[in-house]
Amino acid sequence: SKVRIYTLAKELNLENARMLEILDGLGVSYKSVSSTIEEDTVELIKQIVAEEGTGSGDEVTQAPAAAPADAPDTAKGDAAPQASQPAAPAAAQPAAQAQAPASATATQGRDDVVSDASKAEIPHRAPVVTIMGHVDHGKTSLLDYIRKTKVAAKEAGGITQHVGAFEAQTSKGRIVFIDTPGHEAFTTIRARGANVADIAIIVIAADDSLMPQTREAIAHAQAAKVPMIIAINKMDLPQANPDKVKTDLTQLNLVPEEYGGDLIVVPVSAKTGEGVEDLLEYISLNAELEDLRADPKGTFAGVVIEGRVDKQSGVLATVMVQEGTLHVGDFLVVGENYGKIKAMTDSAGGRIKEAGPSTPVQILGFSEVPTSGEKVSSAKNEHAARDLIATRASDRRDTENAQVQRKLTLEEMMGPLSTVRTVNLILRADTQGSVEAIQGILARKESEDIKINVMLAGIGAPTEGDVLLAGTAEATILCFSVTAPGSVNKIAENKGVDIKSFRIIYELIDEVDRLMKGNIEPVF
Ligand code: GDP
Repeated sequence: SKVRIYTLAKELNLENARMLEILDGLGVSYKSVSSTIEEDTVELIKQIVAEEGTGSGDEVTQAPAAAPADAPDTAKGDAAPQASQPAAPAAAQPAAQAQAPASATATQGRDDVVSDASKAEIPHRAPVVTIMGHVDHGKTSLLDYIRKTKVAAKEAGGITQHVGAFEAQTSKGRIVFIDTPGHEAFTTIRARGANVADIAIIVIAADDSLMPQTREAIAHAQAAKVPMIIAINKMDLPQANPDKVKTDLTQLNLVPEEYGGDLIVVPVSAKTGEGVEDLLEYISLNAELEDLRADPKGTFAGVVIEGRVDKQSGVLATVMVQEGTLHVGDFLVVGENYGKIKAMTDSAGGRIKEAGPSTPVQILGFSEVPTSGEKVSSAKNEHAARDLIATRASDRRDTENAQVQRKLTLEEMMGPLSTVRTVNLILRADTQGSVEAIQGILARKESEDIKINVMLAGIGAPTEGDVLLAGTAEATILCFSVTAPGSVNKIAENKGVDIKSFRIIYELIDEVDRLMKGNIEPVF
């Protein structure tokens, strides 16, 4: 009978990446690790593995509780060295292809910071996961369940504070969760040019199916090119209807793998815990395919997850380490401010002296509260930190001056010639009917040279989240029979995002025409 790839990998004690290498070598096509393979192929693979003797055995190693920064990497094992073991006569194909399987799946990773050549030498890092979805669909409950069951308890009496992220220890290694559910936090971070999450979990309640904020969350994940896993929550309810959720998803061109697509859909209950283990396993699988790596010895790079003022301690900031390692005593620069790390705690509240990649750490030592999404870099000493800030300040002034003085070139006015251009839109209307009517007309307007990309089409007034999304994607927000609240207009003004409202569909369409033309001819 047919067998799923990851099931077979588990049975044979192989890394999934290695399993996909073998499949590639055999010329077997698959969509993802959850695709099924034929019995004949299964037999063939078993033979190859028996000959190679490459079963790894370290896949289920439990990461030590309160893991130091580099624990998950050793716990998780490393596909590349394993594949290139000299003892293995590699029956199928050349080694070190850990990259290839990722591109064969639907998941699209974020841009990697390292080049392929050096990649295999850089250790794996734990995935960073964000949870998004409609209000009341169970994001907080799911995070709470994972935190309760997967976070190693610290010394008695230690109260875990919300610091914006936490680390879960799973049988497959460490997974880091961003602890502020919802796409606003996600997009705020992204709006500053940082990408923190590697994987987005979209929570959809089984009794409610797709709701406006579900579509928003999906649009945000897609805009960031972050792979998605769907968690159908509240499966314990008698009225749970996971099939409806799956069918509704296909209407957004998101096809669950059991319907022949690539989308991983996991039924769960945050109440009973059903399926949560599977969800964690899928996260690890996905991380493995994405081949996430970061160099603990490299130059430090991090992002602020959140900052706050504590009455007793002063300014506290949670920073996600992305590259390199932080040490107590290091000098950090955020924007045009710097600070020296006086103390660091891990997300469970334990004091630590250093922190490596994919570790959220709470830092004491900043003088100003940094904003979430701000990039953090380190400096050798106070002098270097001041120098860096001085350079940044003068760069900023130069840019500001340049923006005032700069004359547009012809190409800038005309746009680059003969390439396909895209008009990004966010559509907001009063009813589903209007949304569909407008989308229908827009679909017919597209031409070979100009694409219309409706990033998000929703019912109701535009939200702050829409503005943030529009800001990062340079989209225009078009409203039909709805208007933006004053607060949203204000943010749009600050961010330079256009929100335009119409009461007549054809006026809205005229505006789209102008936007399309605007991409070709300057309007004087
Ligand atoms: P959020 O707004 O997405 O963070 O949703 P919450 O986690 O606050 O959950 C909203 C409501 O749904 C709460 O009353 C939860 O107790 C309930 N809830 C969440 N997950 C489940 C579940 O798996 N099963 C059931 N029966 N209720 C759930």
